[in-house]
Amino acid sequence: MVRAEQVHKSYGQVEVLKGIDLEVQPGQVFCLVGPSGSGKSTFLRCINHLEKINAGRLYVDGELVGYQEKNGKLHELPDRVVAQKRRDIGMVFQRFNLFPHMTALENITEAPTQVKKVPKAQAREQAMELLTKVGLADKAGNYPSQLSGGQQQRVAIARALAMEPKLMLFDEPTSALDPELVGDVLDVMRGLAEDGMTMIVVTHEMGFAREVGDSLVFMDGGVVVESGHPREVLTNPQHERTQAFLSKVL
Ligand code: ATP
Ligand code: MG
Repeated sequence: MVRAEQVHKSYGQVEVLKGIDLEVQPGQVFCLVGPSGSGKSTFLRCINHLEKINAGRLYVDGELVGYQEKNGKLHELPDRVVAQKRRDIGMVFQRFNLFPHMTALENITEAPTQVKKVPKAQAREQAMELLTKVGLADKAGNYPSQLSGGQQQRVAIARALAMEPKLMLFDEPTSALDPELVGDVLDVMRGLAEDGMTMIVVTHEMGFAREVGDSLVFMDGGVVVESGHPREVLTNPQHERTQAFLSKVL
């Protein structure tokens, strides 16, 4: 579903991704962990072409991200096409950026009705199903300010799902939450995984990675230091840097 080959990304003189190679299979829960500044968010942003890579190749569902290859040369895709492809990728951030002036239900129906031109009644019906799925059917009329952080984050997940993405990217979706609210969000993500959604999850929740993850990559300083099955990497880290990191977060 996602393949990175020697992906490099710099901001000015600073090289943030120094040749990332990895592959995410369809239906996998792929966990990305690593210290602050290691390039996790940057890598996620490259996947939907919010950032342009400087070298290497990045594929989503077999297609180059942001470019088209013609006669051995890469040509950047028009913004319109990039935007279209981005719709297939749902993204959930650390800070739940719901539209504050819209109810939970309206937040979810906004993109399907505006972008996909789904009829309003159908979008509302689908949104109610999604709210039920994330356990918030009774909060459809609440504004974000009337929801807890965990509830807002579950609405944000439902909103991303409303576009029927083939891939979901999560960037530390629970790290801004009070501890008692984390479980509900992780439960929703666990349910998504059981439904077969392909997910890349940047997280410090090692319990989630161990129980739900199919694959885990430890990144540090813009490179993949170690990867494998989460249980293996977490219980028997091979690299010193992985050991040092895990001793801090476990
Ligand atoms: P964290 O765990 O703190 O979220 P991260 O692994 O997600 O960290 P990134 O946000 O990808 O790390 O940042 C990697 C490096 O790139 C950092 O040193 C950061 O300062 C730098 N960086 C990120 N975005 C930009 C930008 N837009 N311009 C310049 N430098 C940036
Ligand atoms: Mg980050």
